[in-house]
Amino acid sequence: MTPKLIGLPFDGASSFLRGPAKAPGEVRRVLHAGSANYFTELGTEVRPAADGSDGWIDLGDVELDDNAQIAHPQIVGAITEAVADGSPIVSIGGDHFVTWPIVEALASTHPDLTIVHIDAHPDIYDELDGDRFSHACPFARIMEAGLAKRLVQYGIRTATNHQREQVERFGVEMHEIRTWDGSMASLDGPVYLTIDVDGLDPAFAPGVSHHEPGGLTMRQVLDIVHHIAGEDVQVVGADIVEINPDRDQHDMTAMVGAKLVRECLGLMMAG
Ligand code: MN
Ligand code: MN
Repeated sequence: MTPKLIGLPFDGASSFLRGPAKAPGEVRRVLHAGSANYFTELGTEVRPAADGSDGWIDLGDVELDDNAQIAHPQIVGAITEAVADGSPIVSIGGDHFVTWPIVEALASTHPDLTIVHIDAHPDIYDELDGDRFSHACPFARIMEAGLAKRLVQYGIRTATNHQREQVERFGVEMHEIRTWDGSMASLDGPVYLTIDVDGLDPAFAPGVSHHEPGGLTMRQVLDIVHHIAGEDVQVVGADIVEINPDRDQHDMTAMVGAKLVRECLGLMMAG
């Protein structure tokens, strides 16, 4: 099935800085800038579809309200419509709030979803500063609503006592980077991949709102992404979130986003 790409220019749930709403345009710009080809590392060509040729389809950006409570149903609606023909979808955020409505839309057809989540932060606060729609809370909303069967996290290095209690409560498989030995969870069934680019070390991806030193290398992130494969695995969606172009340097982080878009499309087109 032909994968689709969609931009979700929304940063109204960000707790510290605005900026990620500008990311979809920047990631697209470097994706098509001609500095890299359209092959993934695993050898799949992910050229955009043109003139009826094989490839993927860019749906453009969704027009979204700045208020998360209004943007939530807008995103659910856009994703529901995009995947109605069964095609997988890659979303470019936006802040990490967007993952909750995306997963809500996908869960109606994939009730046994496994989420693979790369991030510096567990994003599982019950609320942050009184806001249950904050970009620090999406996985609390997803897990309490039963929208996913499993949540597997990599790169985590900021867990608070409250978030550890939440991880325990929801049975989250949280791999903290401090003690992670590089081993990967075995996966089966429908998988959703969500990549918060601040999971990478700021040395590799300076263009994020929350610099959290001590993070993953791009190589480690790619290893996690490439591990999402196999006969029993179906990649139904992916997102790349929290890129903040206001803090980027020489398009370094936009290029990280573009490469991750390619590799995610590749997972879907190879499978
Ligand atoms: Mn984060
Ligand atoms: Mn996050």
